[in-house]
Amino acid sequence: MDCLFCKIVAGEIPATPVYQDDEVFAFRDIHPQAPTHILIIPKRHIASVNDLDAADAALVGKLFLTGKRLAAELGIAESGYRLVMNTNADAGQTVFHIHLHLLGGRTLGWPPG
Ligand code: AMP
Ligand code: ZN
Repeated sequence: MDCLFCKIVAGEIPATPVYQDDEVFAFRDIHPQAPTHILIIPKRHIASVNDLDAADAALVGKLFLTGKRLAAELGIAESGYRLVMNTNADAGQTVFHIHLHLLGGRTLGWPPG
């Protein structure tokens, strides 16, 4: 499958890992938009939030709990952080393998642009 993040999971494209287990992989964003910018992905290919179904509930929960734990480990839990998943063109999704952005380490604007 021609998917950038599947290739990162497979080790075919280099990344800077932060955490992984049997289902989840977390690595540093190549173009960080904040002092901390990590992508948390399922190892299994899912193209977008629109492709999730009820059977994926525990996996999606695990992505969020990984984000929470990494935020604490990286020292941004108290200052604050954002966990966000972009979906399709209007949200600016560019990689069609779901990824939870963990952003923090600075004041983040709201609403996003
Ligand atoms: P999105 O716009 O939500 O689809 O986010 C895709 C993210 O993937 C962007 O923040 C990119 O900077 C990031 N990205 C693209 N290629 C790589 C890569 N090879 N390694 C790490 N992050 C990447
Ligand atoms: Zn993929």
